[in-house]
Amino acid sequence: MKLTFWGVRGSIPVPEINKMKVGGNTSCVEVDLGISTRLILDAGTGIRPLGAKIAKEIAEGKVNEVIILLSHYHWDHIQGFPFFNPIFNPKFKIYIFGPAKANRKLEGLLSGQMEYDYWPVKFSQLPVNIDFYELNEGSHLFKTGLRVIAKRHIHPGTALGYRIEFGGKSFVYCTDTEHFQNQVDKRVVELSSDTGLLIHDAQYTDTEIEFRLGWGHSTWRQAVEVAKQASVKRLVLFHMDPERTDEEALGIEAEAKKEHSGVILAKEGMTIEV
Ligand SMILES: [Zn+2]
Ligand SMILES: [Zn+2]
Repeated sequence: MKLTFWGVRGSIPVPEINKMKVGGNTSCVEVDLGISTRLILDAGTGIRPLGAKIAKEIAEGKVNEVIILLSHYHWDHIQGFPFFNPIFNPKFKIYIFGPAKANRKLEGLLSGQMEYDYWPVKFSQLPVNIDFYELNEGSHLFKTGLRVIAKRHIHPGTALGYRIEFGGKSFVYCTDTEHFQNQVDKRVVELSSDTGLLIHDAQYTDTEIEFRLGWGHSTWRQAVEVAKQASVKRLVLFHMDPERTDEEALGIEAEAKKEHSGVILAKEGMTIEV
């Protein structure tokens, strides 16, 4: 599996000159499975440039369908969707998976941000063919042979972490997750156990989180602790705070590497083979 990071920023896009090495787009990771089905994790603003690339690949016959797996429905994970080029292609097929919620349907959660008062193109006007699937915790086998293991973690309004398994390899995507003050969430450790790569929320520093308890995010140190407890060799620090400058983020990466040699700071445009 080849992973490309199109958006690594948390909360809101930050098109600012001192943040460009990390990147300003919100969460979106492309997973090339080496088949004509492409997997996309989250639809933050990074999905816009990814959509332009996939549109070309559709024209070249390299991609014939896309699976979008949403961790949850906060804006920084869905707001790129109205700009995802393939939604204007009537011959294209998109499968969207996201956490099941008791009070709202997945389709309504996505179409809500495209109501006419907010955006001129209504969801119902999109020509693309979309199927929606609401996920609960557990193991899900997709028709491509892709296995997705979903587990809930701590985040306002609920969110799922995903373990992706394909072709004998695996990685975990666990963003927007909060831990307990004195210990990391065992569910996240269990999901990540012995996986090849862990992409984990690293929004805050130890000092910052003291004032942001209950906001649903982790420190980079908690991400490192999960990686250690789960025996994960490569850890990607993801979902950086919008205020974090490149200099600060690179400082965090250097500091975290002292604790775990496999630490990699997520940067827009970065690719990793799993
Ligand atoms: Zn987020
Ligand atoms: Zn969130």
